[in-house]
Amino acid sequence: MKILVPVKRVVDYLLRVRVREDGSGVDSAGLKMSMNPFDEIALEEAVRLREAGVASEVVVVSCGVSACQETLRTALAMGADRAVLIETDALLQPLAVAKLLKALAQREAPRLVIMGKQAIDDDANQCAQMLAAMLGWPQATFASKLLLSEDTATVSREIDGGLETLELSLPAVISTDLRLNEPRYASLPNVMKARRAQIEILPAADLQVDLRPRLTTLRVAAPPVRAPGVRVDSAEALAERLRLAMGATP
Ligand code: AMP
Repeated sequence: MKILVPVKRVVDYLLRVRVREDGSGVDSAGLKMSMNPFDEIALEEAVRLREAGVASEVVVVSCGVSACQETLRTALAMGADRAVLIETDALLQPLAVAKLLKALAQREAPRLVIMGKQAIDDDANQCAQMLAAMLGWPQATFASKLLLSEDTATVSREIDGGLETLELSLPAVISTDLRLNEPRYASLPNVMKARRAQIEILPAADLQVDLRPRLTTLRVAAPPVRAPGVRVDSAEALAERLRLAMGATP
């Protein structure tokens, strides 16, 4: 069984981004880039399934600029068997990514696509749902447990008030939540090996997909700065401050 894992290159989750002065977006120039954390979880799950003999091949794909090859090399070092870069300099919105992934899924014919529930840069949470809809495949989002058999996937997903369990027929699209697993660190020998690995470069133009953006960003603004806290000496003083803050007269 082949599993396809889309991985996105994003600003590292430990960094704070700065909003550009003209409000047109965030400035990521010179910042450390990493694999989207939810995609690491998706990849870990796929690699575990291959190690357990359930899957036979794990193919990773990234859509974007040439530098996404770094992310793909990280994925290879974590255990992916093969990597494909769908290369484009175009600014990709989730719909365009889903269309590119659909074209690749049709070529690769995986039994399962496992991907992150959302990319931490734009928090869109759209690609998995759009991809499943465009392929006409079943989908289970926010998976916190996955059991795979020849023809079905059983997925527990976190919903308000508890856990929901779904059974999907394959092929299917699954998106991962935080609690699915804890991704491994790539070992140094595997990182070295991945440096020399072959990555297939597929120009996005060859897939004949309309990548034009459908959404316009009007403005990006940093969250308001929180006023510093105040220390009070007693519970009575705190109660008085709260009373005044709620509009009571002194
Ligand atoms: P989003 O819907 O943009 O929040 O992203 C959800 C998931 O789609 C991510 O966790 C990735 O698995 C996948 N994805 C989004 N953008 C890309 C991209 N440029 N290349 C590969 N996978 C992507």
